[in-house]
Amino acid sequence: MPHTAFAEETTDLHPAARVFIARAQRLFIGGRWVEAASGKTYETLDPATEKVICSVALGDAEDVDRAVRAAHQAFSTWASTLPAARERLLLRLADLIEANLDELAELESLDQGKLLTQARAIDVPTAASLFRYHAGWATKIEGRTATLSIGIPNTEFHGFTVREPVGVVAQIVPSNFPLIQAALKLSPALAAGCTVVLKPSEHTPLTAIRLMELVEQAGFSPGVVNLITGFGETAGLSLVKHPLVRKVAFTGSTDVGRRVAAATSGDFKRVTLELGGKSPVIIAADANLDHAIPGAADAIFFNQGQVCVAGSRLFVEKPVFDTVLNGLVTIAKQMRLGPGRQPTSQMGPLVSSQQRDRVLGFVKQGLSEGGELVAGGERHGDVGYFVKPTLFTNCGPTSTLARHEIFGPVLVACAYSSADELAALANDSAYGLAASVWTNDLGLAHRLAKRIEAGTVWVNCHHLFDPALPFGGFKQSGVGCEQAWEGMAEYLNVKSVIMKI
Ligand code: NAD
Repeated sequence: MPHTAFAEETTDLHPAARVFIARAQRLFIGGRWVEAASGKTYETLDPATEKVICSVALGDAEDVDRAVRAAHQAFSTWASTLPAARERLLLRLADLIEANLDELAELESLDQGKLLTQARAIDVPTAASLFRYHAGWATKIEGRTATLSIGIPNTEFHGFTVREPVGVVAQIVPSNFPLIQAALKLSPALAAGCTVVLKPSEHTPLTAIRLMELVEQAGFSPGVVNLITGFGETAGLSLVKHPLVRKVAFTGSTDVGRRVAAATSGDFKRVTLELGGKSPVIIAADANLDHAIPGAADAIFFNQGQVCVAGSRLFVEKPVFDTVLNGLVTIAKQMRLGPGRQPTSQMGPLVSSQQRDRVLGFVKQGLSEGGELVAGGERHGDVGYFVKPTLFTNCGPTSTLARHEIFGPVLVACAYSSADELAALANDSAYGLAASVWTNDLGLAHRLAKRIEAGTVWVNCHHLFDPALPFGGFKQSGVGCEQAWEGMAEYLNVKSVIMKI
């Protein structure tokens, strides 16, 4: 039975979004919308009000098996579909995402908690752009001719490579940017000729389900894209372990990534892992503080700090430390918290009660280790999963707050006195996802960009992405990358052919 109360009482919701959430949310397998084999469902909640939005099919191993088999069956036809036809379908899907922007943005804001303004301006347009960008790669996948070099005469033999799609891909995505993450996973895989089973986070399934309706509308053949909603330990784990899956593309926390790596280690599937971070933000004394202070605030508070590249460790050169800290405290204290769909909100709730409690647990731990709380550190209101923007000082490099990914609006700030120590400070972390450096000293910017161990380094900006640049993590932030040719190559096998002519 669909759960219709929320749709009925939330009259200010976009009409299409209201109709969508009033429906039974099912699995998409082999081009058909089906209940979970067990008949079970679970409820997805509005993190701002804690109310049930709707029920969603609770997929498990049996559903995963059906979805993987559907993807397996669809693979050879999809892999041999003309690249230009694959490109056209991806472009059509991008157009459909754009045509349904208002509805998708409302669903994303409702289910995830993020600001509706950001979902409209960033999440939905970025998802469409990712499909367009990767659509272009479908027609540009090439091998090369090699000049044979050590004893096989080129006059008698011909050596060349071909790139082939790896096969069925299991794609598991997190809760912070559900639609963008689904697009980041699906678009290169489909452009490469792979078929897919996608599993969104149990906390944020709605835009992935709506995306499958658009996949169907765009005209993708049955089985090319399949969707399983459900929990990680059941649906997610059985998906990554399925013997017909040739590649696992996982984005999520480092802890779960480790479990995925362990579960797949024996069968040598191709595995890419986009994991957590503890990214440093460095502000030198010569930086333009009018940009650097709001930049550092945005680096940690954007999306409630639920960003893999959140700038959660701040290093400020001593002479400007107080100015920067005071600026950040002012911003933190002035931020208006409220439901993402409320136009006056500047920060929404965290995605779940578990995440809120986890963040508040870190705050408690920080205080017990002698950290000094200079802003926030508590819930906002008593309904919803809101946590106030939080700033700590006096947390040493070995403290819990300085070392663990909190995945919430919690910043640890400290002063540094010499540029010589900066790279070591920044690199003193198990993670290596991103960093930003705020300075007008071109030499310092270049030296740090070279020495910081991170997949992405920004100078005088943070949170900027472009699909033309690869994105991935060093150290415990991941294995492999997404976007650009490097990301495409993760979905392709390279085969060498030597032919006697
Ligand atoms: P999470 O690790 O809790 O869950 C991610 C996904 O894994 C979900 O779909 C979940 O259902 C699934 N899962 C859980 N247990 C599983 C298991 N045993 N086997 C298979 N799948 C399982 O992460 P989250 O809270 O949804 O997202 C936050 C995390 O994601 C943060 O650590 C963040 O840094 C990371 N992240 C990384 C990137 C990146 O590109 N590096 C991007 C976004 C988010």
